[in-house]
Amino acid sequence: MHLFLFFHKCIICFIVKINLKHSLLFIIFCLYITSCSQEKPRYEQILGTICTVNLFEDGRDKIYDEIFVRLREIEREFSIDKKNSDMYRVNSRAYVEPVTVGQDVFSLMETSLLLSDITEGAFDVSVEPLVYLWNINSASPHVASQEELDEILPLVNYKNIVTNPGNRSIHFLKEGMGLDFGAIAKGFAADEVVKICEKHEVRRAIIDLGGNVYVYGQKANKKDWNVGIKNPEYPDSAPLVRVTLPQNSIVTSGVYERFFSVGQEKYHHIFSPFTGRPVDNELLSVTVICENSMLADGLSTAFFVLGEKKSRELIPKFSSIFNMQISAVFIKKNHEISFSRLFPYVRSILYDDWRVKEVYE
Ligand code: AMP
Ligand code: MG
Repeated sequence: MHLFLFFHKCIICFIVKINLKHSLLFIIFCLYITSCSQEKPRYEQILGTICTVNLFEDGRDKIYDEIFVRLREIEREFSIDKKNSDMYRVNSRAYVEPVTVGQDVFSLMETSLLLSDITEGAFDVSVEPLVYLWNINSASPHVASQEELDEILPLVNYKNIVTNPGNRSIHFLKEGMGLDFGAIAKGFAADEVVKICEKHEVRRAIIDLGGNVYVYGQKANKKDWNVGIKNPEYPDSAPLVRVTLPQNSIVTSGVYERFFSVGQEKYHHIFSPFTGRPVDNELLSVTVICENSMLADGLSTAFFVLGEKKSRELIPKFSSIFNMQISAVFIKKNHEISFSRLFPYVRSILYDDWRVKEVYE
């Protein structure tokens, strides 16, 4: 996401229009404003990514502290390496006996199972054995062989997870199963930051948890926010699509986020629970926009696995179950960009060699 790009561009355009002396004065003025106001974002490496929160003029230290304490707490609960974390206990013992977890992990578990049901298993939090086998996030990733996949795939099936809301327990029916909330945890964390903003009546904020973005409240000029969607082919360059929208979460799943290459072949981090391999369909990325970041995060991963056609069919169903507007942007390998039906936000394509494909359902 390139939230700040547009703002920076405006300042640069403004500076070149005035002479050098004035521009120096202008820069000093800007530095003065910045040092006087509290519009400083705070960022930290949490949840395996850089979490940046900008509360603009409401950015008091006390609120930032509360937000980052909460983010670190979520990280502790979801860490699979930290002994005694909920996730560690589930992944190491839930086959032996039902494991009781805290409210955070249990509510993510329930939402994940619902997403799995509706997507008929395209989204599946029990992908952990696959994530472990391919080891994409490590320094030594591994291309899984068919024999390895045949052995691992029977362990990937959300139907073999039994939950009990009475005591918030999770039980696996097969030995070797494991949970991985990588597709949804950052969205959950963003929603928790939003709750803290609401509690303190923060007027505007940008929450960016490693690209999992939430634009909160209204900009100072009461205009909508501009959010850029990355060009999947050049993720470090200027954005490919600009969407102008009111308060919302905007989350992208794409081939460029985490991958490794062997020769010409690229292997990315979103797996088909049916083949055990990185999903290979017409898509380069899917962006989901809705007010709930956990849902946007989960759905962007799910839609990536499902492909455009099936995702479009499911959007009305998800909108009615969660009672909220859900929109999506599909960026495809053939340089077509398509938007979900009745896409309600202003959008612009910022590269000439990409075109909008209208879909009439
Ligand atoms: P995201 O970047 O939000 O799309 O999430 C990708 C992460 O979700 C991966 O790094 C895995 O940890 C996990 N994951 C991969 N494939 C799936 C899947 N089919 N269903 C659920 N989670 C997945
Ligand atoms: Mg996701």
